[in-house]
Amino acid sequence: MVYNYVINDRIRVSLYSEVDIIKKFMCLGTIFLAIALLLATAIIFTGCGAAQADDGVHDITWSFLTYAEPDFQAEVKGSYDPQPVNIIQMNDDGWAQISTYNGEWWTYLTENKRYLPRNTMVYDDKLGSPIFRIEPQVVTILEQDEEWIQISTYLGEKWVNLLSRSILPEDRVIAFTFDDGPSMHTERLLDELAERNVVATFFVLGTQVTRYPELTARIARDGHEIGSHSYGHPLFTRLTAARIRDEINRSHDAIYQATGVTPTLFRPPYGGQNATVRSVAAEFGLPLILWSVDTRDWETQNATAILSHFVNDNGVKVQNGDIVLMHDVYASTIDAAVKAIDLLLEEGFIFVTVSELLINRYGALAPGNVYRR
Ligand SMILES: [Zn+2]
Repeated sequence: MVYNYVINDRIRVSLYSEVDIIKKFMCLGTIFLAIALLLATAIIFTGCGAAQADDGVHDITWSFLTYAEPDFQAEVKGSYDPQPVNIIQMNDDGWAQISTYNGEWWTYLTENKRYLPRNTMVYDDKLGSPIFRIEPQVVTILEQDEEWIQISTYLGEKWVNLLSRSILPEDRVIAFTFDDGPSMHTERLLDELAERNVVATFFVLGTQVTRYPELTARIARDGHEIGSHSYGHPLFTRLTAARIRDEINRSHDAIYQATGVTPTLFRPPYGGQNATVRSVAAEFGLPLILWSVDTRDWETQNATAILSHFVNDNGVKVQNGDIVLMHDVYASTIDAAVKAIDLLLEEGFIFVTVSELLINRYGALAPGNVYRR
């Protein structure tokens, strides 16, 4: 028996009863007959199967929990995938603290560098980094509501938010960013994004937030990410550290007033940054977010010209992991962004926030660091 839960379009949970897993092995043919017999014997020996399934205990294969934050996202399906593992520390007793997409935990490390009992560590000599495999394992659903599921695995117990987006290794992700707003055009953009269930990141200006506090609140409420783009849009490379601090503080205050949230990302006006800017940003715990695709929308203010940065005669130009720079202060930008979104959705791109994109890629963001993609 297979229990399929389609939580939303990003989360699929399939639970297999143990009997079905045996059947799957059997189908692989006579070569695997011996293995299947061994597994069948194990099933008989442990006396599992339907009875356990009725108790809410299901044997499933666990591919991985894709990571943005530990406890954040889950993808459970009928396969498992190798993934990189960082060893944080090891002790003399053969235990290692490791970090993977699933979070951190301690695991036993044997002499031949393999994790026991079922979590097998494989070192990839070419990469020089260990690859971690999570073997099929029993997952018990302890509690479940519409948003959260508490599961118990060999890795321990954890709550998983089923409504969060998960980024899979095969996904092509892209982050659209809109600077200098909010403006009179932002509401239309938010409507279009909501209609498509697409998220973006808004690097807002303190001056504009003060003008449009309601609109700023809606940006946050709609699930988009809000980053700071300074208060009054000066070129930071010409400012003293004290003036930079003042700009960031005033911008943070305005955003907090409107949304109740302090931004965790900063995009300097004009992308202007130097050692002083980076060190002040670091004081605030802010990474500096630049971009990998510049649509030049402020220059052309022409939807066709803006769209040409996304697609040309040879097809889609943007790539997996791109951060796209636009400004939600021009009607032409909104027109082009909506067209680009429809086009990229058709191509299978997943729209994520800048934090989601970068955390998925780097694990964590370093304050004062400059990120372009
Ligand atoms: Zn700007």
